[in-house]
Order: sequence, then C-alpha cells, then structure tokens
Amino acid sequence: METHEVFNQSPDFADINFYSTDRALQSAIIANDGNADGLEAFGALAGRADTLELGRLANEFVPQLKLFDSKGNRLDRVDFHPSYHQIMAISTGHNLHNGSHTGVGNVNRAAIHYLATQMEASHCCPTTMTNAAIPVIKQSAEISDKWLEKLSNKKYDSGFCPIEQKTAATIGMGMTEKQGGTDVRANTTRAEPVGGDEFVLTGHKWFMSAPMSDAFLVLAQAPGGLTCFFLPRFLPDGQRNRIFIQQLKDKMGNRANASCEVEFEKAHAWLIGEQGRGVATIIEMVTYTRLDCAVASAGLMRSAIAQAIFHTRHRTVFQKKLIDQPLMQTVLGDMALDLEAGVALGFRLARSFDLQDHDETEALFARFMTPVIKYLVCKSLPKIANEAMECLGGNGYVEESPMARLYREAPLNAIWEGSGNVMCLDFLRAVAKDRDGFFSLLDSLQLDNASTSAITDMLGQQKDLEAGSRSIVELLGHATAARLLQQTAPGFIGDAYTESRLNGRFANTYGHINHSHASKLIERTLPG
Ligand SMILES: Cc1cc2nc3c(=O)[nH]c(=O)nc-3n(C[C@H](O)[C@H](O)[C@H](O)COP(=O)(O)OP(=O)(O)OC[C@H]3O[C@@H](n4cnc5c(N)ncnc54)[C@H](O)[C@@H]3O)c2cc1C
Repeated sequence: METHEVFNQSPDFADINFYSTDRALQSAIIANDGNADGLEAFGALAGRADTLELGRLANEFVPQLKLFDSKGNRLDRVDFHPSYHQIMAISTGHNLHNGSHTGVGNVNRAAIHYLATQMEASHCCPTTMTNAAIPVIKQSAEISDKWLEKLSNKKYDSGFCPIEQKTAATIGMGMTEKQGGTDVRANTTRAEPVGGDEFVLTGHKWFMSAPMSDAFLVLAQAPGGLTCFFLPRFLPDGQRNRIFIQQLKDKMGNRANASCEVEFEKAHAWLIGEQGRGVATIIEMVTYTRLDCAVASAGLMRSAIAQAIFHTRHRTVFQKKLIDQPLMQTVLGDMALDLEAGVALGFRLARSFDLQDHDETEALFARFMTPVIKYLVCKSLPKIANEAMECLGGNGYVEESPMARLYREAPLNAIWEGSGNVMCLDFLRAVAKDRDGFFSLLDSLQLDNASTSAITDMLGQQKDLEAGSRSIVELLGHATAARLLQQTAPGFIGDAYTESRLNGRFANTYGHINHSHASKLIERTLPG
C-alpha cells in the first residue's frame, strides 16, 4: 500500500562491532591485564545482523519437550530450534563454556561472555554452568578422566547419546527443590549407596536448566548428609539414566534456554567430594556462576544503552534529534554511568579470580566482593532496561523490538545463583568468618574516607546488622566502583559517579547528573 512514507525511524540495530565500539569494555580489558586479541573479531561476529537474527529465532521458536515417542516410549528429550545450536557453536568455539580453566583466563572469558550475552542471553546459561562445573568435576579423578577432555575443547555436540559417542559435552546443575532454593539444606532428594562411589537418587528438582546437558551436578541427602553428585543423562552401559522431565517452565524471559521440573527415580549418580560436604563441594561452581551473572548484567546494560543511544541519534522530536535534547542527554549519560560501574566492577572481579591462587589480597577481593558485585550490578540492569525501553518510546514496548526480550531477561541474573538478599547475607557471613580479612581488604581498596568510615561503623553495629545489610553492600559496591573508575576511566566519569552515587545526588531514576558529564559520557558510549 502506498498510503505514506516511513521516515524518522531508526535503522535496525545490527552490523555493529560490539567490541570496537565499546570503550568501557576496552578500558576494562586494559585495566585488568586482559588480552584484546580476538575480541574485535568476536565483537564483529556477535553484532552481525545474521547472528542477531539467530538469537531472535532461538527465542521465538522456543524449546519443545518431547516426553514420549509415537509408541508410548519415554523420550525425555527437549528439541531446540537450529538457531540455538548455531549460537551455542559460536560461543563454545570461543571457549565460553570452559575458558576459566583452559588458559583463556577469567578476564578474557568475561569479555567473550559480555559480548555473547548481547548476541543472545539465554544460551549463556549452559555455557556458564559448564565453565563453572569444571573445578568441581576435577575433584574426582575418575570422572575427570572420562569427561574433562570433552568439556575442554572448542566443539559443540548437541547429540542426545552417551558421552563415549560425543565430541563435546555440557554440564547443568540441580539444587533447587520445591520446598527450598536458597535453603538447599532442605533438599529432600535421597541418595542411597549401591557400591563404591555410586549411588541411586530418588526425588526431584524444581528448577533444572539446560536439561539436555550431558550431566548435572546435583545435591542430594546421602547417609552422611547433603552431598554433591555427578548425574549423567546416560549410564555407562548406554542406557538412559532414570531422569524424568515433568515439564518445561513457562518463563517470562530466557526463553531460548529450557528450564525444567524433573524427577529422579533411582537415577544413578557418582559421588563428588565427601558425603555431607555437598555445599562446600559445589560452592566453587556457584562462585563462578555469580561472576558470570555480574558480567552478563553489564553486557545487557551495554546492549540496552547502546540501543537507546542509537535510536535517539536517529529520531527527531520537535525538530531536533532526541540525542541533542538536554534532558535526554542527562538521562542517557546517567544510565551510561551505571554501565561504566558495572563493567569496571565485573572485570575487576574477573581479574581477582585470575590472581586469587597466588595473591592473598586478590583472594580476599574474590571472596568478599563476589556477593557485593553480583548484587549491585545485577540490581542495576532492570532499571536500565526499563529506562532504555522508554527512550525508544512505544517502539521499545513491542515484541518485534529486541528491547522487549532484553527487558524480560533483565531481572533473572539477580534471582538465580543467590538472590539479592542472599548476596547481602553471604557478604555478612564472610565478614563474620574473617573480620580481619575483610578490614585488610577494605584498607587495600583505598575507598574515600567517608565510605570507609560508614562501612566500618555499620559493620560495628550488632543490632539490625542483617536488616541493614543492603545499605552496607550497596555503599561498598558504589564506593569500590567510584575508586575503580577514578583509577581506570577518564576523570569526568569517576567525578560524576562520586558526585551522584556517593554524595547523595542519585534519585533512583536516571537524569540527575551534571549535564556536561552526561554529554561526555554519551560521546564515550556511542555504539559507532
Ligand atoms: C529461569 C530460572 C532458571 C533456573 N535454573 C536453575 C538450575 O538450573 N538449577 C537450580 O538449582 N536452580 C535453578 N533456578 C532456581 C534459582 O536458583 C532459585 O529460584 C533461587 O536460588 C531462589 O530460590 P527460591 O526460588 O527457592 O526462592 P527462596 O529461597 O524461597 O527465596 C525467595 C526470596 O527470599 C529471599 N530470602 C531468602 N532467604 C532470606 C533471608 N534469610 N532473609 C531475607 N531474604 C531471604 C531471597 O533473596 C529471595 O528473594 C532457576 C531459576 C530460574 C528463575
């Protein structure tokens, strides 16, 4: 129909190099001794129109559960759209599912993760779990012998068959049950010994993502208490293990990734670590997944802000581009400030993971700051997704816009792998366990005097310590971000962050920073 001409709409946000246009990321790579080799090429691939289309398709044509075949035999199989497998192959081809342990390093892998999540966020669930499971699997020589090689290459093999027939594998995890997710000690799944390290599990998991993983790390109650087990989809004799998917969760976002409710009926599993030490055994996995939650949230913040800036550069309202309108500039610049903080914190945390085995201060940083950074960065994303959507006006609110998908994804990183309150309590627990260690870290962080005193005072109060722990964690997170930005970013960024996030001008919505800082922040954040 030729009723009108379409004009004053922004072009598609595509064919943009997600790395070379991202100065915050480049600063973080330099500041944390990362290696930029390969990131330019991956950034170009991640931002290509055809790659982004794969992400759209994988979320549009969501995984389908096939419980039975036409003869009534159980299948317990989930079928994915081919685009999902293509995305998985791209990311595994860049070691996203193992880079922390295969020489890539945590900073460089974090960069791939940050970029991959902008390409498509849901598939980062299985890649994160696989990367995080590797140190736990290494605790068993027997399982390592059989599995590590296939977890450590750059391949992707979606085959639903025994590990012996596959070139590569992925790992999931099952901890959450109906009666408790945070409180895993309430798990009721039982583990009965059948000889050696082998047990049979009977019970359920209420959330178990990536159910087509080749094996899962699960917690179950053994005679010696809550214990970590390795639960493969196929048994050594080639039979399917007795893992029965009940249904797939109908999730509001993260739709390309399947998450299921599952029951185990005498499913065979192998002990990892000691009986009764399940939480201690699996905690290393959870620490890696928390780092990934923070980095992915920063990646999605970048995506949201880049799309908002891109749109406002092209859209004219009242005879003037939106990006040239002072109030829009303050809003965009203020959002970019949280992005700068998220990137600085996430990559600094990744560096501490790289150095923690040989450097005591870095080990303290990793221990105390993981919950703080997971909390703060993941909490920032939904606010940014909301504001970025609004920058697109009505176009942001329709399903054809990538912003709708991003908005539905945004709250998830704060929920799983330890929700917000749980992170604050985890921080308090860590301080209670090693107070001297925390104050030694606080000293080394060289935060501004007012924040250091306030944190020290708040931790000194016994009354209402738990009730007020969000205040402590948020202050510590903001003060650390301010310090990092002062050290690693152009001066106006540290100034703007300190003025707004530490000195009381932040109003919990965006659009309150100094206008000249905002203009410079937009200039730095332009997506090409
Ligand atoms: C899409 C998706 C995929 C998932 N995939 C997996 C998976 O693969 N494997 C898996 O094991 N789990 C998975 N989960 C589960 C997820 O990890 C849990 O939902 C999460 O840990 C919270 O547990 P819960 O749902 O039981 O909530 P609860 O433990 O009931 O917590 C509810 C709320 O109470 C707060 N809270 C808890 N304790 C306290 C306290 N002492 N003081 C104050 N507040 C408190 C929490 O912060 C939270 O906000 C998935 C969840 C989602 C949404």
